[in-house]
Amino acid sequence: MSSQIPVKQIDPATDASSNKKNSETVELYASRKKIYVKSVQGLFQRIRFFSLWALMGMYFLFCWIQVGGEPLILFDLPAREFHLFGTTFYPKDFILLSGMLIIAAFGLFFITTLFGRVWCGYTCPQTVWTFIFMWVEEKVEGTRNKRMKLDKSPNSREKVVKKSIKHAIWLGIAFATGLTFVGYFYPVRELAIDLFTLQANGWAYFWVGFFTVATYSNAGWLREQVCLYMCPYARFQSVMFDEDTRVVSYDFNRGEPRGGRKKSASKEELGLGDCIDCGQCVQVCPTGIDIRDGLQYECINCALCIDACDEIMDKMNYPRGLIRYTTEHALEGKPSKLLRPRTFGYGAALMLMIGALVFTLVSRVPIELEALRDRGALFQMNGRGMIENSYTLKIQNMTEVPQTYNLSVSGLESARILSDTRFQLGSGENLSLPTVVEVNPESITDSNNDIIFTIMAEDNGDLRAETESRFIGPRR
Ligand code: SF4
Ligand code: SF4
Repeated sequence: MSSQIPVKQIDPATDASSNKKNSETVELYASRKKIYVKSVQGLFQRIRFFSLWALMGMYFLFCWIQVGGEPLILFDLPAREFHLFGTTFYPKDFILLSGMLIIAAFGLFFITTLFGRVWCGYTCPQTVWTFIFMWVEEKVEGTRNKRMKLDKSPNSREKVVKKSIKHAIWLGIAFATGLTFVGYFYPVRELAIDLFTLQANGWAYFWVGFFTVATYSNAGWLREQVCLYMCPYARFQSVMFDEDTRVVSYDFNRGEPRGGRKKSASKEELGLGDCIDCGQCVQVCPTGIDIRDGLQYECINCALCIDACDEIMDKMNYPRGLIRYTTEHALEGKPSKLLRPRTFGYGAALMLMIGALVFTLVSRVPIELEALRDRGALFQMNGRGMIENSYTLKIQNMTEVPQTYNLSVSGLESARILSDTRFQLGSGENLSLPTVVEVNPESITDSNNDIIFTIMAEDNGDLRAETESRFIGPRR
């Protein structure tokens, strides 16, 4: 449905004197024009082809791979365990996961400052899936011209068959995508079996269905509209650009004035630039823009227009690079700087974050120990005339293998643990250990004393954790 807002045109010269009300309706809604993207061959298309298939392959494979019996990547929310490349992280490590996300964001800003939206053109999931869907579309329905003809033609058996095959394959890919995505949060082997034997829980069906529909709509129908209207990055990435950011650009000075000509004609005699106005750069553009209009927020820096234009330049025997990755300064004949305050800023922040993450990872001790004092009684005297305090120790083995630990207490000379001090914990296992500590009343001078619990793995002295607590005695 189109939305129209009546707009009153104000013309002070006439309206103020005549007091007439002029109004007209301005159309603020433009219906989508379907873009028929022409396929192109060239260096950047080859790079995209390999990077997009490689990313797609990784996405579909990684959730199935196991390392030492553990999944390569699994965000097991019910178990509160995150398996990443052979290491298991727990909620305590959440800061590390946050650090990784912040590094990814700074990495994106840094790359954008240098090379514009290469993330969008070569690696963004929307680009990857749209590329695969368009590849299927071309295999089933044919080239750009054939697709346009098919869409314009009346319904026929051929049209219905082709459209049905295309949508069936799209739905198959979308379902595989949904299943795989949920497989990063729920063991994928169990999920696949449970889904197909109708044993899975309702939420599993819901989320697989949700991501199937989302993939099918985004990559099959919405395509460039996701980049144009839904992606926030498209809107704010321009603030990271400057005159030295390398982006896909049309060399206006070399290309203009544009105009058609025969290959044998002399452009100098015709007074024309190198652009033959063939429109190939527009036909291959997945967002349907004309790069000759200058830098636009719709441009995802995929460089397909470079490949298309280079092909034309080759045919015309003109030098390549009428459209190329370059900077605004270079186009103006000024020197371009790779390193500048902005790149230093993002680069320094990135290095700092990576350094902090590496340090935290290296110094991470995969064991958790927490001591909770028993709130029921401050202290009690036992039959031997000693003061007793009770605690519950929370211990988690965060290593990938079972461990035997020894527990000790220090801080007060005569402190001794009366309960078990040696215990075993499986990988990832949590233990709530009731612990009683006794102290000789003669060795304490204060009612409130610091004590330290220590646990240490029996066969690895580096695997140790300490936690402080209080030992309460009678008033002195
Ligand atoms: S492909 Fe090159 S020559 Fe053809 S219209 Fe685009 S810029 Fe001009
Ligand atoms: S203008 Fe060129 S680089 Fe930008 S989106 Fe279109 S084809 Fe890709």
